[in-house]
Amino acid sequence: ELIEREIEEVLGLRERREKDSELYKIANEVFDRTTKESLAHLHKRGKIGELRGVISTGKEANVFAGVDGEGRRIAVKVYRTYTTEFRRIWEYLAADPRIGYLPKDMRKLVFVWTRREFKNLQRAMKYAVRVPEPMAFRNNVLVMEFIGDETPAPRLKDVERELELGDFEELYDFTMGVIERLWRRGDMVHGDLSEYNLLLHDGPVVIDWSQATVRRNRMSLELLRRDLRNVIAYFGKKGVSVDNPDEKFRELVG
Ligand code: ADP
Ligand code: MN
Repeated sequence: ELIEREIEEVLGLRERREKDSELYKIANEVFDRTTKESLAHLHKRGKIGELRGVISTGKEANVFAGVDGEGRRIAVKVYRTYTTEFRRIWEYLAADPRIGYLPKDMRKLVFVWTRREFKNLQRAMKYAVRVPEPMAFRNNVLVMEFIGDETPAPRLKDVERELELGDFEELYDFTMGVIERLWRRGDMVHGDLSEYNLLLHDGPVVIDWSQATVRRNRMSLELLRRDLRNVIAYFGKKGVSVDNPDEKFRELVG
C-alpha cells in the first residue's frame, strides 16, 4: 500500500533500521491510520524526511528526532489520537476565543489542539520569545526546529544540579521576562512554564506551547497566576531572591 511504503521511508525501514529499535516499537504502538496518513502527507512534501529516534514519550504526545527532506534536523511531536486527557483538552479549547468550532470527536479535537500549538509557536516568536521554529503541521503531527546538537538539548530540570546561583538568577530574569513580554506585548500566556519546558541551548528556549492561549481567554488570568507561582516557587527554592507572585500578578494585570 502507498501509505505503508511512505511510512517505511519515514521510519528508515528500507535500509538500516532494525525492527526492534525503540523508534520502531513506539511507532508500532502509537501510529494509527490517521498518524500514518499525516506522516505520509508531510513526507511527500519534504517536511519530514526520516525519523531517527525517540526524544520523549508522554501521555499526550511523543516527540521524535529526525530530518526533513533536505537533511536538516527536525523535532516531530505526534499527539496521540486517543488520550485520557480528552476532558482537559476539551475544556482548554472551549475557553479559547480563537477556536470557533469544537469537534465532538476526540480525534478531530486533537487536530485542533495540534494546530493551536503551531499557531502559539508562531505567535510567541513574534514577541521575541525563543521557541523551536514551527515548520509544518498535519492533523495530529507537528514539525518544528530541533533544539540541540547531536543530542536534544537538556531541560532545565535535567541540569539543575550543575548550575550555580548566578545561572539560576539569569534564568529567573529570562523566564520572568518571557512571562511579562508575552502578556504585555503579545496578549498571551504560556500556561505550563516550568523547569520541564525550558531547554538550555546557548540560552533558554521555551517549548510545549499546547496549553498557551490569549489574554481574552476567560482562563488566562488563572494560567498567568499559575505560571508566576510555579516559576517563582522553583527559583525561590534555588536561592534566587524572587518577586512576590501576588504582587507580580497585580502589576501585570493592573
Ligand atoms: P509534553 O511535555 O507534552 O510531552 P513537550 O513539548 O514538552 O511535550 O516535549 C516533550 C519533550 O521532548 C521535552 O521535554 C523535550 O525534552 C523534548 N522536545 C520537545 N520539543 C523539542 C525540540 N523542538 N527540540 C528538541 N527536543 C524537544
Ligand atoms: Mn513538556
